[in-house]
Amino acid sequence: MPIPEPPRFCPPAPAGAGPFLLSINPADGSQAGRVAQARAADVDGAVAHAWQAVRCQPWRDLRLDRRADVLYEIGRLLRAEREPLARLQMADSGKPWKECLHMVDSAAGSFRYYAAVCETLQGEITPARGEYFSMAIAEPFGVIAAITPWNSPIMNEAQKVAPALAAGNAVVLKPSEETPQLALELLRVCHQAGLPQGLLQVLNGSGEEVGAALVRHPGVRMLSFTGGTETGRAIAAVAGQRLIPVGLELGGKSPHIVCADADREAALAGVLSGIFGSAGQSCVAGSRLFVERTIYAEFVAALAQRTRALRVGLPDDPGTQVGPLISWQHRDKVAGYVELGRREGARVLAGGYAPEQGALARGAFYMPTLLDGLPAQARVCQEEIFGPVLVALPFDGEDDLIEQANGTAFGLAAGIWTGSYPRAWRLARALEAGSVWINTYKQSHIATPFGGFKDSGIGREKGLQGLRLYSQNKSIYWGLHTQPLSLG
Ligand code: NDP
Repeated sequence: MPIPEPPRFCPPAPAGAGPFLLSINPADGSQAGRVAQARAADVDGAVAHAWQAVRCQPWRDLRLDRRADVLYEIGRLLRAEREPLARLQMADSGKPWKECLHMVDSAAGSFRYYAAVCETLQGEITPARGEYFSMAIAEPFGVIAAITPWNSPIMNEAQKVAPALAAGNAVVLKPSEETPQLALELLRVCHQAGLPQGLLQVLNGSGEEVGAALVRHPGVRMLSFTGGTETGRAIAAVAGQRLIPVGLELGGKSPHIVCADADREAALAGVLSGIFGSAGQSCVAGSRLFVERTIYAEFVAALAQRTRALRVGLPDDPGTQVGPLISWQHRDKVAGYVELGRREGARVLAGGYAPEQGALARGAFYMPTLLDGLPAQARVCQEEIFGPVLVALPFDGEDDLIEQANGTAFGLAAGIWTGSYPRAWRLARALEAGSVWINTYKQSHIATPFGGFKDSGIGREKGLQGLRLYSQNKSIYWGLHTQPLSLG
């Protein structure tokens, strides 16, 4: 019997009953946009509509190739609209133009990838031990809550929404208040591509109010969170109480290691882009630099020179290498860490101030900063700053390196620059990190699982595991008995 096309007329998502939420462009303080602000009371409606969409649409039971068609179309439309979406992204987040294009392309890539992966959602026939036939199949959870931070709008959302939809769920998405516009654009594109109404809901509101209400809502069956470790811990505690699964992509303080036998030029470029790309507002930023003591002074001096030469500028200037931070409040936090470092005895080898002249004085800019002279246990070396601040530390031999590099609560990523592949292998195995880059840094794509060790998270997004994160197993037994079942 042919499977009917999904009807398109489930009730629309609530628009948010509260006042407006303003998005401020951190490059100059102008208003980037205005969206309806949801309140805690809107969560009930969003979750109810999402369940209604799950129940009244055949999405869950739609042939996987048909589900894939919709996901593929979302990816195609995102790609077709990359420039206008990137422009909006640039105003919302202040990221430089090329990075904004990358975010949109990455989001499109996630939908294309999960369109293909969707069709791998196959069950298993398990070897039976009796007169029955047994199988394990993947089932969606129903309604999933996805909560995202501000540092990679649309990319982070797509990384959750694409696999969650591919697995047959509905998603209620709460993006960061700082960057509220791209998630709404994603919603529009999803509907344009034919995603049945109600399967994706977007609630723009505060984390403490709307996010917390969403996490506690009894209709939400699984939580997928990306953000800071302390928020993640609070969300995991609620998930623990509610006994629902949670995927957590949290913060980092990633070690970036340069051995004496490394290609110096390649390592310098890798270290610079590893920390100062996205103005350091990246969960995998290589924010702790470990350099082998024999080359420490020379390497750090060259790095300081290149750090000072980085072009800090407006996001739409093609020459800009480092844009503004997300907000003035965040800049104050970053500056506060540098002051703390100074008080703890750091030498400031580059940066360490906010520009006060010209166009940059109007934005939330902070100069790329290099500190050294601190012990590995200093707060600046231990806590996530999430800004353009790199701390350099020397090491003597592999044991010392591993002890220092693993000596934080985090375990998200690590980078190693060395000419010796046996050494790279030993270090990569010993480092407590979810991703390790050898003679490269911050490479990432949707087909390779991503996530953290220790306080950097639970579970893996992306890749085939990323699809399984949003499914639960169901085992089914089919009796083939020749005799009635007996008690004995
Ligand atoms: P936050 O943890 O402050 O916020 C993340 C999201 O959670 C926001 O949407 C926020 O809402 C919401 N939120 C806040 N409190 C609650 C709560 N009690 N219940 C439910 N939701 C809540 O992180 P940031 O937005 O500041 O993002 C930066 C952090 O994200 C860094 O630590 C970074 O390392 C991490 N990150 C991790 C990644 C990874 O893949 N491992 C990738 C990207 C970032 P709102 O802010 O709107 O109030």
